[in-house]
Amino acid sequence: MEDGNFFTILRRRMVTEQILARGVRDPRLLEVLKEIPRHLFVPPERVEEAYEDRPLPIGHGQTISQPYIVARMTELLAPRPGDRILEIGTGSGYQAAVLARLASEVFSLEIIPELAETAVERLRRLGLTNVRILLADGYRGLPEEAPFDGIIVTAAPLETPKALLDQLKVGGRLVIPVGHLEQELHVHTRTDKGWDRRRAGAVRFVPLRRMPPR
Ligand code: SAH
Repeated sequence: MEDGNFFTILRRRMVTEQILARGVRDPRLLEVLKEIPRHLFVPPERVEEAYEDRPLPIGHGQTISQPYIVARMTELLAPRPGDRILEIGTGSGYQAAVLARLASEVFSLEIIPELAETAVERLRRLGLTNVRILLADGYRGLPEEAPFDGIIVTAAPLETPKALLDQLKVGGRLVIPVGHLEQELHVHTRTDKGWDRRRAGAVRFVPLRRMPPR
């Protein structure tokens, strides 16, 4: 994935100045963030902004998250080699690409077909064959493939869907922004008795949308 140029330099700087500087320390994660060509996950007219410290529009009223937020949420999710991970909200596919390099199997759900198709194509070109992108409603999760070692939600519901909590393995983690306008990141860990919850700071995401029942 080396592009041996300008973008490699921007990417290293992004990791040092936006991510390492804010306290994300996991060496495997930092290495992956230095490698994934984020500029290939934004619309062509946004390529030069791809490594800036903010979210960017990706069309259909959706955004690719700020690099630091991707790093922070991934650190909280703590994927390990061998893990099976579920992502809700494929968007550009960037977060899925990061997860693909850290875990063994990634499922990512999206409701906008055009975004899902573009993301599939990007991941294919990068040779990331361990991600499956599915058109499906995130509120329901993916019970057919459950349980998961980790679930990450990259759009915000008003409250944590119970279906997602139920699809965690014991010891598995659900990282999810919750709330309307003002949102908070929650990390739920499944225990043998139930779920532990901790709060991990304020965030801003697009809403997790309700799909009309079919
Ligand atoms: N993780 C993405 C950013 C996602 S933006 C990235 O790395 O680029 C949030 C995404 O969630 C949008 O693409 C939106 O279409 C999708 N989304 C919204 N509601 C959803 C739902 N109910 N189920 C699945 N995906 C949903």
